[in-house]
Amino acid sequence: ARKRDGKNGAQVYDPAILDQTRERAEIESDIEVAIAASWFEAHFQPIVDIDTGIPSGFEALMRMRHPRKGLMSPAGIISVAEETGSISQIGNLILEDAMANLARVSRLPGMEEAYVAVNFSPLQFEPGLLARLTGLLGHYGMQPSRLVIEITEAVLMHDNPEIRTILNELHQFGCLIALDDFGTGYSSLSYMSRFPVDIVKIDQSFVRSLTDKADDIGSKNRMLIEGISAISHKMNCKVVAEGVETEEQRALLRQMGIDYAQGYLFSKPREISELLSALSARQSDARFMAG
Ligand code: C2E
Ligand code: MG
Ligand code: MG
Ligand code: MG
Repeated sequence: ARKRDGKNGAQVYDPAILDQTRERAEIESDIEVAIAASWFEAHFQPIVDIDTGIPSGFEALMRMRHPRKGLMSPAGIISVAEETGSISQIGNLILEDAMANLARVSRLPGMEEAYVAVNFSPLQFEPGLLARLTGLLGHYGMQPSRLVIEITEAVLMHDNPEIRTILNELHQFGCLIALDDFGTGYSSLSYMSRFPVDIVKIDQSFVRSLTDKADDIGSKNRMLIEGISAISHKMNCKVVAEGVETEEQRALLRQMGIDYAQGYLFSKPREISELLSALSARQSDARFMAG
């Protein structure tokens, strides 16, 4: 029922078996127990300035700490939770964990302005969201711009007027909106004009194919990324490249005018205690580089 997601060190529910009702029921009941027993936690991956390697913020990534099965990655969990509706509860737990831990990270020198980027599912755009965020940010005495709301095409594609209204409110309030997995969907470019977007995250599939030697694929993808970067900057958006694993990719992306990078080259997602010690160890040299 499970397999190891090698690079992350965490396990995933095997997507191949999701259709099988018994396995699905197992995930559903795991989720139910996990909410009640507080097995959900956020792990944090730095998003660094591509020139200096210094973290500007951290993406909060959901993990389930199953006492018997170990640490579970979101694959499999999110899709089931979106179907059953429990994603809004999980989302709130991750949001609260992310804010509380951003407050801890902020106490480190140089991290006073760091942000946390949280992934949001469509169901989380409920009318009470702005009030909840206002309360949370107020509790920690943080400016709204310390919270980045990551959305994917799944949030935008139905062009639901309620979601659009809530996104505009959040943006007015001062939270930043990031378009996640950019470039993989059907009409990504048009979302940039119809929704308030501050940050564009170029999907890791583009980054991976940068160095593809076959049939000019690499050079074509370089042109695509350069184009996305130019358009994003014209739209006043910052650009993050996801899944940066090698120095070669970083150098190419830097030449192409990408602002920020995220990936295993800099750091894997870490649990908060590990993040805090890694950041403290780098206090004299704040760069977050491989190793
Ligand atoms: P995402 O938001 O695009 O997050 C980036 C994913 O890429 C993470 O996978 C991260 O661990 C992985 N990653 C980072 N650097 C590298 C790299 O250099 N190479 C490779 N191969 N992968 C890298 P993860 O943590 O398994 O999360 C998967 C997806 O699950 C996320 O993709 C996001 O869509 C969703 N997700 C995670 N946490 C939450 C959450 O709290 N709420 C919701 N709704 N979705 C979440
Ligand atoms: Mg994301
Ligand atoms: Mg992504
Ligand atoms: Mg730059």
